[in-house]
Amino acid sequence: MISRVIASSVFHAMRVVAPRLSAAKRRLPRGGFVSFTFDDFPSSAAREGASLVASFGARATFYASMSMTKPDDVARVIDGGHELGCHTYSHLDCFRADDAEIERDVARNAREMAPLLGEAPRHFAYPFGRLRPRHKRLLASRFATQRSIFPGAHRDVVDLSLVRANRLYASPLLLWRARRLVDDVARNGGWVVFFTHDVSDRPTRWGARERDIAAIAERALRAGLTIAPVGAIVERTLTS
Ligand SMILES: [Zn+2]
Repeated sequence: MISRVIASSVFHAMRVVAPRLSAAKRRLPRGGFVSFTFDDFPSSAAREGASLVASFGARATFYASMSMTKPDDVARVIDGGHELGCHTYSHLDCFRADDAEIERDVARNAREMAPLLGEAPRHFAYPFGRLRPRHKRLLASRFATQRSIFPGAHRDVVDLSLVRANRLYASPLLLWRARRLVDDVARNGGWVVFFTHDVSDRPTRWGARERDIAAIAERALRAGLTIAPVGAIVERTLTS
């Protein structure tokens, strides 16, 4: 009885924490996958971050916010074969904005990215990771995936309108969690997404050190996992 009460409260707590699942659930392929993503994204991510991931024979996803991302950095990332995703133009906090404002800001960002990308961006990340459940449907018509900052790995299925992602910052606790997530996916299969911002030996509190990204990438490859951008994983998924 007690365990049922606990299970029930955990269930209700989860409902409060995570927006409701939508029809965008997809089954993941067998195997283990890791994605590195860079938000905003500063020049150090476009340079050091991009070449570091490429040095492992892999590519990453970069979410541009065209009020602050430099067009040169966008071009560099595309030239490197990485994936370009869409944030919002002004780094709008969607949680506080109305739907029309979100549509306008996202459309402006996509419009500024399109000439560089050659097409409309297909993948989105919520600035600050903040959203309301209704936004999932609002943006689903425009984007194949919407990335949150709800932590954890995906096992078996993924909600494409709420892709989970984990902080990869220069913090011993977060790096310990990142290693555990990689080990978990190596053992049980699934997909873990990491996100960070700037990349350097002395990053901001929202950034990562090159050696930490490298250590996670090495751990993933040693365990036989595939490192790939968000879009590449989604293309491998099958409709459930
Ligand atoms: Zn951001």
